[in-house]
Amino acid sequence: MCTYDVIVIGGGPAGMMASITAAQNKSKVLLIEKNEKLGKKLYLTGKGRCNITNASSIDNHINNVVRGKKFAYSSLYQFSPAETISFFNNLGLTTKIERGNRVFPMSDKSSDVIKYLKQKLDKLSVEIAYKTNIHDVICENEHYIVCTNNCKYTAYSVVVCTGGLTYSGTGSTGDGYIFAKKFDHTIVETKPALIPFLLVESVKEIEGLTLKNVELSLKINNRLITKQFGEVLFTKNGISGPIVLTISSLVNRVNLKNAVFEFDLKPALDNQMLNEKIIRDISKYKNKSICNYLKTLLPSSLVPFFIKKYNFENKKLCEITKIERQRLITGLKRFDLNIKSLDNIEYGIITSGGVDLDEINPKTMESKLYKGLYFAGEVLDVDALTGGYNLQIAWSTGYVAGSNASKRRI
Ligand SMILES: Cc1cc2nc3c(=O)[nH]c(=O)nc-3n(C[C@H](O)[C@H](O)[C@H](O)COP(=O)(O)OP(=O)(O)OC[C@H]3O[C@@H](n4cnc5c(N)ncnc54)[C@H](O)[C@@H]3O)c2cc1C
Repeated sequence: MCTYDVIVIGGGPAGMMASITAAQNKSKVLLIEKNEKLGKKLYLTGKGRCNITNASSIDNHINNVVRGKKFAYSSLYQFSPAETISFFNNLGLTTKIERGNRVFPMSDKSSDVIKYLKQKLDKLSVEIAYKTNIHDVICENEHYIVCTNNCKYTAYSVVVCTGGLTYSGTGSTGDGYIFAKKFDHTIVETKPALIPFLLVESVKEIEGLTLKNVELSLKINNRLITKQFGEVLFTKNGISGPIVLTISSLVNRVNLKNAVFEFDLKPALDNQMLNEKIIRDISKYKNKSICNYLKTLLPSSLVPFFIKKYNFENKKLCEITKIERQRLITGLKRFDLNIKSLDNIEYGIITSGGVDLDEINPKTMESKLYKGLYFAGEVLDVDALTGGYNLQIAWSTGYVAGSNASKRRI
């Protein structure tokens, strides 16, 4: 049986960072990954470009954390977004800052992020066991025994960095929850987050349509739950896009029975202004068809869908009645679609829920129940909005777990 100071389970961002930090502190480290390579999910991030972090204050990061705000503070202070950027720059990875302070590798390649992390792991002589699926962790005489089907490794400390439940093809299949439960930890119910919604109505004919600068409200039984301004994308059976993903993270623990999305397609104009504009337009473009007129107000691919939904005949503007004009305003200001559910967790960008934070020391990432047992990254009940905040949580919690795990000597 091989003995290590620290064993890290999971070669994603949190696990790679934990391994690097522990090895920098002179620990003998084994990083165990079930796949044939490191960072399969990291490779997919930022549409293959990897939004490494957000170049903004720690307070802004905390504002963008959905669950675990208070818990995230200490690790973000110990390894801040600014330190993350310097860390990668020192590895040789040049970075750039884009809209919304999102930080990307200059090359636009997530593979470069993995390449530089791997080089650092090699430089620090971290041993890596690939294609090694851990199915059990045992604590015996204050040592940990980490077991595969045919092999056992022991260590003073174990860091569990197995990720969440989404995009399971990348290796994140929730194994860490099983290990945590075995050590008496509570698992807060997992829910998909940053995920598209499925709709009751068919939106197949507007699949691929992006609506920019709309105000989107989620209402349940006519009560406003949340409202966001920005961009929406129609998928083949629902909606996605930045503000929809944000809303999904905010409501994923709410019962979505009778939930409706209401779009304000003209948020710059209130009802009265819109009414006045339409009256002006009617007298100016008397002979224009409703269909052609709507093309001046909406993206043209939405027009047939809109006409069908609000039951307009394609008559001339001068022929429309007052009731039809009111219906037009309702359609533009309160375009509604019924929500079926969140999409399958498989398609979530992040898992909400996980190892209960009350049972983890936020300053060290150590279990409060078992000395020498650490957790980092998505396996914890911490999740954030898009913008590089989730990876920052993985880097920061990985850093803190690795540096504390390496201090443990029996
Ligand atoms: C499509 C997509 C795009 C994203 N884009 C961004 C982005 O641009 N910016 C951002 O901040 N966040 C992004 N995220 C979120 C980000 O990827 C996660 O926050 C991050 O990967 C979590 O890191 P982790 O190390 O905790 O877990 P993971 O990345 O899931 O890594 C866990 C690792 O553990 C291994 N493992 C699991 N169980 C075992 C076991 N039993 N034995 C051995 N190994 C095991 C897995 O194979 C995996 O490699 C994105 C997520 C997705 C799905």
